[in-house]
Amino acid sequence: MVQHILDTPIEYLKGIGPSRAEMLRKEIEVSTFGEMLQYYPFRYVDRSKFYNVSDINSDAAWVQLKGKITSIQTIGAGRTARLVMTFKDQTGEIELIWFQGIKWIKEKVALGKEYIIFGKPNLFNGRFNFTHPDIEPEEEELIVQNEPLQPYYSTSEKLKSRGFTPKSFVRIMRTLISQVHKFIPETLSQELIKSAGLMNRTEALISIHFPRDPRSLVKALERLKFDELFFIQLQLLRLKYIRMEKVKSRIFGTIGDHFNDFYRKNLPFELTNAQKKVVREIRADLGSGKQMNRLLQGDVGSGKTLVALMSMLIALDNGCQACLMAPTEILAAQHYKTISNMLNGLPIEVSILTGSTRKAARVDLHNRLESGQLHILIGTHALLEQKVQFHNLGLVVIDEQHRFGVAQRARLWEKSEVPPHVLVMTATPIPRTLAMTLYGDLDISVIDELPPGRKPVKTYHFYEKDRFRVFRFMMEQIEQGRQVYMVYPLINESDKLELQALKEGIDNVMRYFPIPQYHISIVHGQLKAGEKESEMKRFVEKKTQIMVATTVIEVGVDVPNASVMVIENAERFGLSQLHQLRGRVGRGADQSHCILMSSYKLTSDGRKRLETMVRTTDGFEIAEVDLHLRGPGDLQGTQQSGLVGLKLASLVKDEKLLKIAREFAYRTLDEDPHLEKAENQPMVKYLQRSEYDWGKIS
Ligand code: ADP
Ligand code: MG
Repeated sequence: MVQHILDTPIEYLKGIGPSRAEMLRKEIEVSTFGEMLQYYPFRYVDRSKFYNVSDINSDAAWVQLKGKITSIQTIGAGRTARLVMTFKDQTGEIELIWFQGIKWIKEKVALGKEYIIFGKPNLFNGRFNFTHPDIEPEEEELIVQNEPLQPYYSTSEKLKSRGFTPKSFVRIMRTLISQVHKFIPETLSQELIKSAGLMNRTEALISIHFPRDPRSLVKALERLKFDELFFIQLQLLRLKYIRMEKVKSRIFGTIGDHFNDFYRKNLPFELTNAQKKVVREIRADLGSGKQMNRLLQGDVGSGKTLVALMSMLIALDNGCQACLMAPTEILAAQHYKTISNMLNGLPIEVSILTGSTRKAARVDLHNRLESGQLHILIGTHALLEQKVQFHNLGLVVIDEQHRFGVAQRARLWEKSEVPPHVLVMTATPIPRTLAMTLYGDLDISVIDELPPGRKPVKTYHFYEKDRFRVFRFMMEQIEQGRQVYMVYPLINESDKLELQALKEGIDNVMRYFPIPQYHISIVHGQLKAGEKESEMKRFVEKKTQIMVATTVIEVGVDVPNASVMVIENAERFGLSQLHQLRGRVGRGADQSHCILMSSYKLTSDGRKRLETMVRTTDGFEIAEVDLHLRGPGDLQGTQQSGLVGLKLASLVKDEKLLKIAREFAYRTLDEDPHLEKAENQPMVKYLQRSEYDWGKIS
């Protein structure tokens, strides 16, 4: 049943029909009137303006040219075929190139006729050309006359072959808007629209397709971006309000023997000021009676584990158990070791539970957990199993948050009648805008200081020709007692080529660093957990000097004696991954080094990534560069953000608007926490209609 005209299937729009509707659904994911309305132009063209071929001097701008085709040629055959045309105006010639839809375009174009082409010039071998330009016969009438800004919709060769040219989208939008414009619901309260100075939604949706003038386009964009950002914030803050109101948690008012004894007797070093500040913030949360939901951000090596431990000790002091969940077995094992060591001599029971814990040990562990004998449980996803029941779980710490979703967090809650406090730790620095969007429902603490005495890791960029210099350098470091990581980009663990590269790399290293003088650990995803563990262990125990690995060592592994990180094919890694990898060294008192090996062929983004790594060790700065280079959808660990549903707004460019939207979301909920007021009903309706999948945003 169609509830609203905007939910009408797009096949019912005049001129579309079922089979073209199917094509739209497949190619641009548009299946209803409403979705089509949100298929926004990706640019606007001043169709009255033409360029000369001789004026083309940059590969940045979109241009429109008028002229003739003087030659048409198909080069190559099959999958490598391309269509090359020469286009000529009074001032010069330029090539037009197609790799797809060749047959269709060839049929459409005739020699000697006037055409208007539109596209973005590329510089190739010192000359400009156009690949896949838009090409229309000159006499074809402009659809929108008297309107300086003509919308331009992106389309594909496939769509074009079914008649969906950029121009036909203009016709579709005209038809669509004339049918639906009276029924577009407002989504904000009049009050908010007024005080934020926004355009109303109907006008904005019309103007974004057919702007009267540049100003109305700006206002339309502002309004529609505002909606995208505002509703995300409203949802997140509503979650937060509901939790604050409904979810009462235990009050941990006592700082007792566990915490104090540890602090006095076992603390191996002075806390950094940043650690002290964060511990204070956590103490305040735990004592407040509200459930803590705090995100702890801190660069690799900033000492988050200690903060986690001290928080857990507060839970213990108040008669509760605590658990710490890590994303991999290696990390869980490491946390277990670190924490057991730190608690040495104190009457605190700690255990570890992972997928490879044996049955008998498991049964024993379950029993001790349920009786309350066990105080701290460390583990992997295995902690989420139904069988794992706590006596009295008071605090959950989740390390490396981005690998766990909201749903999993919720499953840990269920392990206690009173929801436990939650501390989420991440070493992936997240730019503020992204944090607000992804973790808007959490409070945020930041450790912005490394423990004293750390020397920033020195970073270099080398090419294959420097290989033996690099090997010699590794040798020198090993002679001084240091250890070395070598990491290969095995992004897809089953990719044959990548595996091949890893094998060749290993052979190469083994030849240069032969047994018995040298020993090498090899760790990759195809090893069994037990094998991985024992290889790691040999490295940790200094039985091996070199660890050749894939990115499985990326997070959390702590071997302070390792002072060299060599990253092979570094250009293939993302920035945040490079930063994580580099964080494996520089953990001890010695000067550490990170060597980025790359091929000579670098894309401009690849070069920028390597330059950034060489220039700075500041995780937040790196995260900002990453966000600008890749856009939020691709940031490591935040793939979910693609689901947030941002069509127009950018977390990079619209930081200001995001803050305003968040401010208004706060204000709205402060005045009307349950969104009950009549004037806020449009928002409620919109939230109910909106298809965002909130479960996927963590
Ligand atoms: P991360 O934040 O990456 O999880 P860790 O908790 O693993 O960092 O800490 C990194 C290293 O720094 C560990 O070896 C830890 O013992 C040490 N460390 C933590 N806090 C301090 C401190 N205040 N002073 C000196 N060393 C510290
Ligand atoms: Mg850690």
